[in-house]
Amino acid sequence: MARILAVANQKGGVGKTTTCVNLAAGLSQAGRRVLLVDLDPQGNATMGSGVDKRSAARTVYHVLLGLAELAKVRTRSASGHYDLLPANRELAGAEVELVELPDREYRLKLALAEIEGDYDFIVIDCPPSLSLLTINGLVAAQAVLIPMQCEYYALEGLSDLVGTIKRVRAHLNEQLEIAGLLRTMYDPRNTLSQQVSQQLESHFREKVYRTLVPRNVRLAEAPSFGAPAVVWDPSSKGAQAYLALVEEILGRELQAAAPESVASSEGA
Ligand code: ADP
Ligand code: MG
Repeated sequence: MARILAVANQKGGVGKTTTCVNLAAGLSQAGRRVLLVDLDPQGNATMGSGVDKRSAARTVYHVLLGLAELAKVRTRSASGHYDLLPANRELAGAEVELVELPDREYRLKLALAEIEGDYDFIVIDCPPSLSLLTINGLVAAQAVLIPMQCEYYALEGLSDLVGTIKRVRAHLNEQLEIAGLLRTMYDPRNTLSQQVSQQLESHFREKVYRTLVPRNVRLAEAPSFGAPAVVWDPSSKGAQAYLALVEEILGRELQAAAPESVASSEGA
């Protein structure tokens, strides 16, 4: 069974898409079979994977509305070496159209169920809102990865997101958990950054990834070359951080799968 991670934060510009494409490419480099689902009408994950969103005739929109099978809509990110379910502006209309449909919160989950066996990881790039699209992402996932910038209002926004996650868990997807909080665009010289980062650690403890993603221009440049930074410039500081995150995530999965054997090997 695939591990399904939703990357969510209703704030825009916190690094969701950057995290998704680099995580997908990094997991693929580690030998895992990966599907990246672009669930944002902006289609940034699609473009960042080197797929032209304007020429994608069928997208996640058609899958959610039951107009096409996921197996026929998915495409390949040649640069990232993973499969992609693309998105473009058309998806903006889905929000309204989904409301009318049965199982409106479960559409993505039901679609993924058909191809889940093809993958080790499915990564979902959520839009910057707590809309029905994001709810579809949270319902389909086993866990949420929350990228956040360590700034003053970040914590305030976090409580809304955590509230939504709790409601989804109570009513729609009882297995949903927080996979981890990822500090992005981190600047160690900034005192506020450090303070917010410490607050996060004291409140969320082991849920905060050890890996810190620094502010790094290579991460911002890579999308214009249609490739994840871990492929385009693997030695850059930003790419190195995302490769470390992949290691950390794979380590956690191992621990979750076999807690006793890991514990005993640590003791040896
Ligand atoms: P979101 O998907 O949450 O809206 P993005 O991943 O698109 O956020 O990031 C917002 C902008 O910041 C993009 O232009 C992206 O290239 C840039 N960016 C993301 N992470 C970093 C980073 N660690 N360092 C520098 N720029 C970054
Ligand atoms: Mg985005």
